[in-house]
Amino acid sequence: MSISEEILRKYAELIVRTGANVQQGQTVTLNISVEQHHFAALITEACYKAGARKVNVDWTSDVQRRLDFAYADEKVLSCVLPWEEAKMKQMTEDLPCRIFILSDDPDALDGIEPQKISSVMQSRQSVLKPYRNAIEGKHQWVIAAVPSEKWARKIFPDREDAVELLWDAILRTVRITPDNDAAAEWKAHTDLIAEKAKWLNEQGFSSLEYKSANGTDFTVELIPGARWEGAGMDNPVNGAFYIPNMPTEEIFTSPYAGRCEGTLVAVKPLSWNSQIIDGFSITFKDGRAVSCKAQKGQELLEQMIRMDEKACMLGEVALVPKESPINRCGFLFYETLFDENACCHCALGMGFKEVLPGGDDMTVEEAEKHGINDSIIHVDFMVGADDLSVDGIRPDGTRQAIFRNGTWA
Ligand code: ZN
Repeated sequence: MSISEEILRKYAELIVRTGANVQQGQTVTLNISVEQHHFAALITEACYKAGARKVNVDWTSDVQRRLDFAYADEKVLSCVLPWEEAKMKQMTEDLPCRIFILSDDPDALDGIEPQKISSVMQSRQSVLKPYRNAIEGKHQWVIAAVPSEKWARKIFPDREDAVELLWDAILRTVRITPDNDAAAEWKAHTDLIAEKAKWLNEQGFSSLEYKSANGTDFTVELIPGARWEGAGMDNPVNGAFYIPNMPTEEIFTSPYAGRCEGTLVAVKPLSWNSQIIDGFSITFKDGRAVSCKAQKGQELLEQMIRMDEKACMLGEVALVPKESPINRCGFLFYETLFDENACCHCALGMGFKEVLPGGDDMTVEEAEKHGINDSIIHVDFMVGADDLSVDGIRPDGTRQAIFRNGTWA
């Protein structure tokens, strides 16, 4: 069985209308691999039909990227060319709707010196970050995925029909079947997540306590008044409701940067910069990661934590019950978009200013003063063990079970 054109169109439409929610007259930037040119055309058509003024495509290639890292000089790769910067600057004026379609090989950069990858990223981000900050929280965006041969083979190495199997899983997690009303299912799904977020917001927890038999023993302080959010949000510029991640199962907030203690043990491997980190734990003291241990990718993990001054602090805590449709697939996707929606996770690096009251109108620098972390990285890692318990603690010391055995208490 291969995926029908009809289903592909249905998926493209869902990404454009329900995810990005492209509005009449908006410019769209589509970021997609050259291998997915057919799906790119379907997305582009769906954008125009939704009223887009112009769709601009940023083509990517993980094969090309690997060749760049293998052969080109680090200094050359680190340099942001004037036209690249001009493109980012243009984005701060147009505030386009951004659509990212992931399909990369999780091992695309396997064997490349991690030091080279992280210094290139550091140099480039130091130039590009101010532009990213300028559009942060002011435009609609969505990340979704389509399978590539290499990605599918990483997950199902022994299966002839790996690509179809991955398609099948992706469509299930984004709630598409041949004859359902996918938009209506998404409405029901996002309403349910919003309800849970509302409950958490009413509890007024000031800190969370995580415990699991695998060694996770961790407390983190929350920002007074910061909201728990999930599924979707409004673009404050035009009021359009958009869903940044498809699939999405999480309810998240940004904790107080620099205020956590203890150890978090990861329960799934992590693909960062197209290389794998596996079997790892991170220990925090005074809110900063002070040590980490990984069975695979130790050097990579250390570099991640040192990417900039605040990469060692948390930017996100998220609650996802272990019986999420992604976890029920029963395999690892090697792609954060999916794996982070399988169980509870935390993220090192950049936080979300939108969770602060009035956060939409704050600059990244202002939000930082209220406890939101600022970094060039935002890397989610999964801590949702089957026996994970999470307690919420209120300012008066009272305690409430939020999660027991990896799911809502
Ligand atoms: Zn998350």
